[in-house]
Amino acid sequence: MKSNSGNPIYQPNKQRDITEKKFGKLTALSFEYRDDKHRHFWKFRCDCGNEIVLRKSSVISGNTSQCRECSLKERKIKAITHGMSKTRLYREWSGMLQRCELATSTSYERYGALGISVCEEWHSFEVFAKWALENGYSDKLTIDRIDSKGNYEPNNCRWVGNLEQANNKCTNVYVEYMGETHTLAEWARIYRMKYHCLYDRWKKGWKTDELFKGYSRTETDLGE
Ligand SMILES: [Zn+2]
Repeated sequence: MKSNSGNPIYQPNKQRDITEKKFGKLTALSFEYRDDKHRHFWKFRCDCGNEIVLRKSSVISGNTSQCRECSLKERKIKAITHGMSKTRLYREWSGMLQRCELATSTSYERYGALGISVCEEWHSFEVFAKWALENGYSDKLTIDRIDSKGNYEPNNCRWVGNLEQANNKCTNVYVEYMGETHTLAEWARIYRMKYHCLYDRWKKGWKTDELFKGYSRTETDLGE
């Protein structure tokens, strides 16, 4: 086979070929051109899908590891979350981790010790903050687990106001009815009632036989 010497288009030799090689978010697609300063330019595909032509050396050296759009996005997130490290949201996040994972935390016995955990992805504050902001977080709200026996994870969490949070703390309100004593939360489950509905009735001072009006008791009791 003849050499490419007669080819007007410059071909990178094998050693210079980085096709399919990955550098950060960038995958090298093809050699594009060499400028008059003998610098090589390649086309890369970023993980986000953008295709861009970049100077090969700046990619190989690690100076450029993603497209411009991605780096702007990253800078924005970093700025937000860095600025947040002293914010309330950050304290919510670290408080959650401490309750579940720090055995010396005063709340650990009501969380971590009971098997309540924080999902893997929320160990990253950035990921948690993103979820929080996309799901209605504001500084007046507190994270709440929908199923109080469930874990801290996107499907089981929401942001609630002080009143709702206070309600949740009333799960240790005991109510006696028909010779049985349960917490309000347990009664709500026994009667398949929304907890807030039962709590509202209780707060209004309804008598016990009125508390469950319109609801019937489940067969299986608490099932525990
Ligand atoms: Zn990108």
